[in-house]
Amino acid sequence: MSHQPLIDGFEFATAGARQQGSWPVRELPRVRDLLASEDGEVRYVLEGMRDERGRPSLRLSLQGTLTLRCQRCLEPMPFEVRADEVLVLAATQAEIDAEPPDAHSPDRVLAGKEMPLRELIEDELILALPYAPRHASCAARLAQADETRQDGKISPFAGLRGLVRDKH
Ligand SMILES: [Zn+2]
Repeated sequence: MSHQPLIDGFEFATAGARQQGSWPVRELPRVRDLLASEDGEVRYVLEGMRDERGRPSLRLSLQGTLTLRCQRCLEPMPFEVRADEVLVLAATQAEIDAEPPDAHSPDRVLAGKEMPLRELIEDELILALPYAPRHASCAARLAQADETRQDGKISPFAGLRGLVRDKH
């Protein structure tokens, strides 16, 4: 799916609309830059709703497997991302700024007539990614890779290195 759906925020929320699909990772430029590979896709569900105070809101759920780069051994590592957030719409930036800072209050987002779904997905994905991803055990993976090379077989990472090189 390569189109870029735009939603009318308040209309989507008050109508209780629903949209779902899969978004290729390579078409999420801000997220792509944080990854070791742009393979894969993210499944999303966007629903219009009202929060417990009756305010028009968007609920965005995401699920997919992204390929991050381990910050310890620098090899790729799969990361299962799952996110489910309610974004309470605001008519103006002033409305958002007037709200007292509170860690427990829901996220606010400025509503528009043409809100790009892609940006909502990117924002939520970036928040869901670990700041410094690491394998649970790098040493095991490295030892395994060394063994494979001694056997004269192709390193399981050889193909991935090729992909990284192709990006430049
Ligand atoms: Zn590692």
